[in-house]
Amino acid sequence: MTDLDTFRDQTRAWLADNCPPEMREPVRSDKDVCWGGRRYDPAANPAQAAWLAAMAGKGWTVPDWPTAYGGGGLSPAETKVLREEMAAIRARNPLNSFGISMLGPALLKYGTEEQKLDHLPRIARGEIRWCQGYSEPNAGSDLAGLATSADDDRDDYIVNGQKVWTSYADEADWIFCLVRTSKASKQGGISFVLFDMASPGVSTKPILLISGYSPFCETFFDNVRVPKANRIHDENKGWDVAKYLLGHEREMISGMGLGTGGRNPLVEGAIATVGLDHDGRLADPLLRAQIAQFEVRARAFAAMSERFIDELKAGRAHPAQPSMMKYYGTELNKDRHELAMAAGGSDTLEWESDASRGGAAARAWLRTKANSIEGGTSEVQLGIIAKRILELPGA
Ligand SMILES: Cc1cc2nc3c(=O)[nH]c(=O)nc-3n(C[C@H](O)[C@H](O)[C@H](O)COP(=O)(O)OP(=O)(O)OC[C@H]3O[C@@H](n4cnc5c(N)ncnc54)[C@H](O)[C@@H]3O)c2cc1C
Repeated sequence: MTDLDTFRDQTRAWLADNCPPEMREPVRSDKDVCWGGRRYDPAANPAQAAWLAAMAGKGWTVPDWPTAYGGGGLSPAETKVLREEMAAIRARNPLNSFGISMLGPALLKYGTEEQKLDHLPRIARGEIRWCQGYSEPNAGSDLAGLATSADDDRDDYIVNGQKVWTSYADEADWIFCLVRTSKASKQGGISFVLFDMASPGVSTKPILLISGYSPFCETFFDNVRVPKANRIHDENKGWDVAKYLLGHEREMISGMGLGTGGRNPLVEGAIATVGLDHDGRLADPLLRAQIAQFEVRARAFAAMSERFIDELKAGRAHPAQPSMMKYYGTELNKDRHELAMAAGGSDTLEWESDASRGGAAARAWLRTKANSIEGGTSEVQLGIIAKRILELPGA
């Protein structure tokens, strides 16, 4: 028996003992997802709180981060085993966090030791909920055109300006934010800073989506004082951090293409609507073929995703890969929900009834329309892929 086999056995046994049955059920809505943070109420869902505490206690909310920063210190192979064993029992992700998927990797690469020790363990334990202050009304795809200013005031910056589409800004505790510290050069005048959303001068205004939810905001900064000690990397070098973080954000978003794993809601929904024929196959042959075609694409994507993560961890990823995964994963997820709506028939358009769980299917379908915009649009990803693969200048 290899060390990895032993690790697998121990992990399986630990998960069996520590993953509550409720945390093996599919996530039904955004409210089912644990985001942690100062306003997190463990009493609202004791099973979820127990699962978070158990996983954070092992450092397994971030299994491959060093233990000194609250991680599990697992090797890439062990991390993969943990993921496989969690998938086998359909365990929910114990903690959804922009701190884990976006800021953490950037801090590990660009943060000082003091900054790492300050922020990473709190991210790993889910104590601080983060939001991302990149986009502005006149700086989306052309992100380097951002205008939010950070003026020098001895040990501090004074930040003024507006961000937009800031996901969960009204629920977040801290923000990682791109600010302009020089007008001398577009990319070369940007700095990457962290600050508390409770700082005087920060305000947020939720924006309503077509899904009926308001998961993101306009975010305003009015003379917000930010210590220079909260800047990551050198002044005017924030673009390096921003781009590195975007690669991780795109990897995270591409994961939507993988679906929920385990139980297949697409197939279950189709069975519930059209039923099975006498051979136990989906009764509608056209829908059956469409779902089969989709599943082939989804499995190919899952295999490609697995390979990509291995290459990324080994430092051998092609620079176009995050954009390729982001593009394909989000288009796939949109197709999945289109097909689920078609398979479910007119009932899936229900918006408010109890039977439809408050229109969960329709709202999730509409939400996917934003997948190919958030984290950089599909058109922009195709532009990046063309530049990186063809090695054209100006990437
Ligand atoms: C659900 C959601 C959550 C988000 N969360 C956050 C967040 O938390 N923090 C944050 O900072 N931002 C967030 N965003 C913003 C997101 O990053 C931007 O919407 C995105 O980068 C596009 O910018 P834009 O909306 O300004 O569109 P624009 O840049 O104005 O683009 C408009 C259209 O022009 C096309 N286009 C633009 N430039 C090119 C080009 N060079 N080549 C080809 N086509 C082009 C685009 O593809 C698009 O179709 C979020 C967006 C969404 C939808």
